[in-house]
Order: sequence, then structure tokens, then C-alpha cells
Amino acid sequence: MGKPTLGNPQNTIEILKRYQFSFQKKFGQNFLIDTHVLDKIIQAADIGKDDLVLEIGPGIGTMTQYLAEAAGKVVAVEIDKNLIPILEDTLGSYDNVRILNEDVLKVDIRKLVREENEGKPIKVVANLPYYITTPIIMGLFEEHIPMVSITVMVQKEVADRMQTGPGSKDYGALSLAVQYYASPYLVANVPPNCFMPRPKVGSAVIRLTCHDRPPVEVKDERLMFDIIRASFNQRRKTLANGLNNSEKLDFSKEMIIEAIERLGKGPGVRGEVLSLEDFASLSNHLAGIRI
Ligand code: SAM
Repeated sequence: MGKPTLGNPQNTIEILKRYQFSFQKKFGQNFLIDTHVLDKIIQAADIGKDDLVLEIGPGIGTMTQYLAEAAGKVVAVEIDKNLIPILEDTLGSYDNVRILNEDVLKVDIRKLVREENEGKPIKVVANLPYYITTPIIMGLFEEHIPMVSITVMVQKEVADRMQTGPGSKDYGALSLAVQYYASPYLVANVPPNCFMPRPKVGSAVIRLTCHDRPPVEVKDERLMFDIIRASFNQRRKTLANGLNNSEKLDFSKEMIIEAIERLGKGPGVRGEVLSLEDFASLSNHLAGIRI
């Protein structure tokens, strides 16, 4: 086994030069070059030798080295084929790392967990590509990937969205999905100078500890999240109009108004004031009267 070397900016620059690597903006490539931040992520992820870690977007393998030291095994999914020879070099001395050259949104992660960890819950750790943060997180949750936790670097504004409740401008489908599936904990705010190249936005590390069971009882999760997405798709519309206009939902206006009234809300109410409990009751009622 080696020792993590890449947190040091000089070593990162040396590797990038040696391989004549050029950053691809379209892949959201901002590599970490701060050992303190790396230590904080590893500590917050609470990884031990029994753990299988899924890393999304290992880049040149900086965090992967730290993860490989701490975990039983690391599976790292990287889309950019130009990074694969670099990863083979920087991770060559670790025998517990598997690299997949794939788009993480197309990987059958459930199958991966079955094959690599006998279906037991895994830990997800990543400095995420910011252009697909929401689809990655929502996908992991909605596909019910067995997970203990997700510890990720995200845009600061996304970390805010993950931790907020009704009434805030940041409140939306992501806030509700996080509440339903996990408990969020802000690990650290991270300034742009901890990355190469520097991103234009501030970042934050957040740990989402997955619930054993959701905090509310929901008859049909897919329906509830379709309702949630429909109510936030048209923020300026009333909840009733948002639901009525959705192509995914098939309820009459009368059914929708009746369901909203049962929540004790008026017909002009907007989705952004509803709590997770409200969305659960609304969807449970609509699931019960569906034809
Ligand atoms: N983990 C590295 C670090 O911290 O230095 C790199 C993080 S960088 C913010 C995001 C990484 O995700 C890049 O290596 C990028 O190529 C990769 N990536 C982007 N889109 C991806 C996708 N759809 N599937 C897998 N990896 C992706």
C-alpha cells in the first residue's frame, strides 16, 4: 500500500503535467488540493475496514487514496477515459480499489452492491460533479440503494437546499427527498481555493445519514415524489393548478381540491408551504381514491 500523496498541490500539478491532462469543463472537473478538507471528509464519512465505499468521480484519485487507506474496498466510477491511465498510476499500489470507466447515472448500482458487498449497505463518498448533483442524489435515494450514508462535496447553495424546510426560497423536491430518506449534517464550508481549477461558487461538505425507516408513512413513494415535483415545477402557480397541469398525474381538479381541503389548507395554497407530513397525507389520500 502507498501513502496518500495527491492532497499536496505540487504532486497534483506534477501528475497533470506528466499526462498532459486538460480539464474538461463539461464534466465538472475541480480537483481537491487541500489535505485538511480531505481529512475532514474521510472523518465525517466514518469509514472502517468493513466498509465498501462507492466514490463518484475520482478524478486523478486524490480522495480515492485516502478512501483506500480507510475502507475495505473502494469502487470508483469515472466517466472521463483520459483519467483512467492516471488512476491506474496513482492507485497502482492499492489492491482494494476497482475503477469503472462509466457514466454513474447509467451504472446499475444495486447490482454493484449485490456483487461487491452481498447487498449490504454501502457508504457513498464523493466530491460530486456539480452539473448532476441532484440526479445523482435523487437516483441513489429513489432506487433504494442500500446505503449507510452519503458524504459529499456539493455547491454551497445545494447544501442549503438539502437542509431547509417550508417557506424558504431554497425549499424544493431535493429538500423533501433528503428529509424523507436521511438526516443532513453540514460538515464544512469549503472555499474555491481548495480546488484546481477554482470553481466560481462556494462549496460545502454534507453528510446525509440514511434513515432505517422514513419519518412518515407513505403508501406510494413514486406518487408522492411525482406530486412534490409537480408542485415545485410551477412555483408561481397554486398547488391545485400545479398538480392539475402535471402530465404525470391523473387526478381530476375536484379530487385535487378535495385532497388539499383535507389538509386544512385553502384552495390558493402553494406547494412551498407544505411540509413532508402534508405531502405524505396528500399523496396517501390521492393514492386511496385513484381509479
Ligand atoms: N474526486 C476528485 C477530487 O476530489 O479531486 C474529482 C472531483 S471532480 C469535482 C468530479 C469528477 O467527476 C471528475 O473527475 C469528473 O470527470 C467526474 N464525472 C463527471 N461526470 C461524471 C459522470 N456522469 N459519471 C462519473 N463521473 C463523472
